[in-house]
Amino acid sequence: AKVDGRNSFQFYIPNMQEQSFQRLSMENNLRRALENEELETYYQPQIDLHTGKIVGLEVLLRWKHVTLGSISPSQFIPLAEETGLIIAVGYWVLKHTCLQAIAWHKSGLPPIQIGVNLSIKQLQQKDFLSSLQQILDETNFDPHYLELEITEGIMMDNVEEKIILLNQFRQMGIQLSIDDFGTGYSALSYLKNLPIDTLKIDRTFIEYIDHNEQDQAIVASLINLSHSLNLIVIAEGVETQEQVDILRELGCDRIQGYFFYKALPTEEIEALLRAQAIT
Ligand code: C2E
Ligand code: CA
Ligand code: CA
Ligand code: CA
Repeated sequence: AKVDGRNSFQFYIPNMQEQSFQRLSMENNLRRALENEELETYYQPQIDLHTGKIVGLEVLLRWKHVTLGSISPSQFIPLAEETGLIIAVGYWVLKHTCLQAIAWHKSGLPPIQIGVNLSIKQLQQKDFLSSLQQILDETNFDPHYLELEITEGIMMDNVEEKIILLNQFRQMGIQLSIDDFGTGYSALSYLKNLPIDTLKIDRTFIEYIDHNEQDQAIVASLINLSHSLNLIVIAEGVETQEQVDILRELGCDRIQGYFFYKALPTEEIEALLRAQAIT
């Protein structure tokens, strides 16, 4: 709405109040959601382009709100990060994921690699490493099947400290991937210092890959760069056969996107993994 003159002042104040009220009630709701088990983990399969098999899953959080319905993580993760709630949410996701994976394994499914998104805020917690170790011990989860997804943003400050931490993860047997690659501000030179296993090319480079030569050139060089650094490369947000064909031609290792699967609830993933295990 167009606001001007003396009205702008009147308009501004209620808006601010409303905003902070919404924010506060959202924060309380999220706090309660954690306690009331309104949070749920969905899992998006990652497909090996050579075999066509599901070789990994990414955990994506869902908030099933009693009245508002399903709230997307892009709506509440930023708020959780601002308020510090991401710490508790993050531990819940890690623990829940490990317990789920153990349950699948106990039901006879072969183990599969599971990627969990980490916020920079979590990595800044001094006791993150020991808390993670505790979750792995308590749940009996084999860390070799855990992949932590981090973004280039972690290279913004205390780089040396972060590299030490990442190396500690790796010593525990955990895999590391760099998420949303190409959207941050990091210099490419960081890649050689980062102890990572996997590079995930952001969806924005994939979206127009079949009719934009620049995007195709960028993706081609990211794939080559990854391979020369011995990294596995995953293309995110793949939605069409054309994109799959180009990515296969360019030598991309894995694909994650709606063309194959959206993020699915536990039972559906279980059925998929079971079907795959008997073929
Ligand atoms: P992300 O880590 O980049 O996850 C990929 C997002 O892209 C997911 O959105 C996924 O559903 C969506 N996606 C996957 N394939 C396609 C596709 O083919 N087309 C399109 N248009 N989208 C696709 P989602 O689940 O809404 O999650 C959004 C973001 O929220 C994630 O982006 C991640 O940054 C964050 N997030 C989700 N779960 C967690 C969590 O447990 N912890 C933290 N810290 N962040 C999380
Ligand atoms: Ca991710
Ligand atoms: Ca991503
Ligand atoms: Ca993202």
